[in-house]
Amino acid sequence: MFAGGPDKDKAPEPLRLSQKEIFRRVAAMFKPHIGVIMVTLFWVTIGVVSGILPPLWTQIIIDDGIGKADLGVTAFWSVAAILMTLVGAGATLGYGYYSVVMGQRIMLKLRADLFQHLQRMPLKFFTRTRTGDIQTRLISDIQGVQTVLGSTLVDLISNIGIIISCLIAMFIMDWRLTLLSLAMVPLMMVFGQYIGTFSQKVTKGAQQKTGDLNSMMQETLSVSGILLTKTTGRLDILEGRFDEENKALAGWQVKLQLIQYLFFGLIRIITAVAPALVFLLAGWLMSQGDTTITAGKLVAFTGLQTRLFFPITATIGTWVQVVSSYALFDRLFEYLDMDPEIGDRPNAHKMPVDQVKGAVSMKGVNFRYDDETEDWTLADLNFEAAPGQLVALVGPSGAGKTSLTYLIPRLYDAMEGQVMIDGEDVRNIELESLQRIVGAVTQETYLLHATVAENLRIARPNATQEELERACRLAAIHDHIASLEKGYDTMVGERGYKLSGGEKQRLAIARAILKNPKILILDEATSALDTASERVIQGSLNSLMEGRTTFAIAHRLSTILDADLILVMEDGRIVERGGHAELLAKNGLYARLYNEQFRSQEAGRVESPTLAAE
Ligand code: ADP
Repeated sequence: MFAGGPDKDKAPEPLRLSQKEIFRRVAAMFKPHIGVIMVTLFWVTIGVVSGILPPLWTQIIIDDGIGKADLGVTAFWSVAAILMTLVGAGATLGYGYYSVVMGQRIMLKLRADLFQHLQRMPLKFFTRTRTGDIQTRLISDIQGVQTVLGSTLVDLISNIGIIISCLIAMFIMDWRLTLLSLAMVPLMMVFGQYIGTFSQKVTKGAQQKTGDLNSMMQETLSVSGILLTKTTGRLDILEGRFDEENKALAGWQVKLQLIQYLFFGLIRIITAVAPALVFLLAGWLMSQGDTTITAGKLVAFTGLQTRLFFPITATIGTWVQVVSSYALFDRLFEYLDMDPEIGDRPNAHKMPVDQVKGAVSMKGVNFRYDDETEDWTLADLNFEAAPGQLVALVGPSGAGKTSLTYLIPRLYDAMEGQVMIDGEDVRNIELESLQRIVGAVTQETYLLHATVAENLRIARPNATQEELERACRLAAIHDHIASLEKGYDTMVGERGYKLSGGEKQRLAIARAILKNPKILILDEATSALDTASERVIQGSLNSLMEGRTTFAIAHRLSTILDADLILVMEDGRIVERGGHAELLAKNGLYARLYNEQFRSQEAGRVESPTLAAE
């Protein structure tokens, strides 16, 4: 469902929910805003009534005022018509304002719900979906829904109100002329429907192309994109692709504008032809001796008739929009209904960090990412780590070291067996507790576009400046931060100040110190560092690991030498375990990996850990 790509050529996907169900849920979204809805409807009613009265009064002005040269009558009703039009203008403003407020209140909640829900989706959801797709779909779907909720629905109600009130007034004036006017409606409906459908297709095409163009710009005008073009020298290919998309977008935009002119052209023809036909029929009726038709009535009647056409055409258009919005709502509800999979069990309980000892064990754990395959990614994992121990995970790339660490904070759940903290199955611990108990320093440090201090406070929102500085001192990054122009208030992240890989890592270490988890997962960086930086990082890591049970995906000699337990992994299994000397003596996989990856670091040649199998 979320697999991206243009879907303009595909048949529309069938709705997941029934139209009735979608309607029920949309109605439920409106329910809390009943007050604003009532105010909106009040203004809509005022708007409709104030729109219908002035044309009716023209009959009095013409027949009784101008026809009888009575200035008093003419002046009175003319002024009344002007005042009523002013009221109508005020009402339009009123319902416009309240309908936008209503739409935005609903949208506010919907956006918040979606964001919260998606944030709780399992990692699996994000690894299987291109993040860009989620964003684009969400943004465009939300925009679509916003238009429908904010203006389309209210316009629809207002237009239907105008149509009904005009028709009633026209029938009262002269049913024969009204029937003639109505005869033109099917013709308009056909045109309206055609234009509505066409306009929808074109709007979608234009949106699609805008999306394509935007993602292309994002891709190519990013650092990695520019690096690709600059290092391959193939500007021409990308420019060619861009030209194509760009031209296609221009084409869609021309069509889009054309439709609008077509629409106004149509209205113009109808508003000219319809009164002429009414005059013809009226003329014929009068020639047959009808005395009920007066000049004033004809002017009033054609005035109402003209008022009728725009709402009719617009209603058909908006109706198409409302119907197609079912698909938008269906998709948004689908996001909201997606099962977060990894959630709290009904009997899950809190586990305060300060009461956790930090023992971690796995018993008969089997795990795979993909349910469709037979093979386990992790098979038959059994081990016990005592509180405060350092467990080094060693093994060739793809052996399952990272996957093993994912199971502890429940980024994924084991399919079989048990993952336990202090003897308690992690699935019985509330996720919020678990997230506080387990912390991680990964190879990639994710920095938000925010200040250094804000980035640090993600780990502990209420940390004082002193606490931040203490953590940064321990992580050996304080001096560097202090040397920046704005110190802890320097913006970092996507478009902020660039920190080096080593600095980012130390910031991550400071974050972990602030978070103060009982269990730590540490993915040691594989990138080469010079001896001095290596020593600094080693020092800060040592302060971080102190008093915590640590699982280190080891790339440093010192880590494996310090480890209380080394787990050697291959093909998702723990194939050897024990201490360094013991494992070396076995002369098995560990001995081989040690010779290949770690031995070179013995003489302090820390620039070569990249020789590792990664
Ligand atoms: P290591 O950390 O030892 O290099 P990993 O735990 O990253 O190994 O990977 C173990 C195996 O799981 C590899 O074969 C890898 O391709 C696979 N794998 C890792 N992440 C995913 C994922 N999100 N979806 C499917 N397979 C994955």
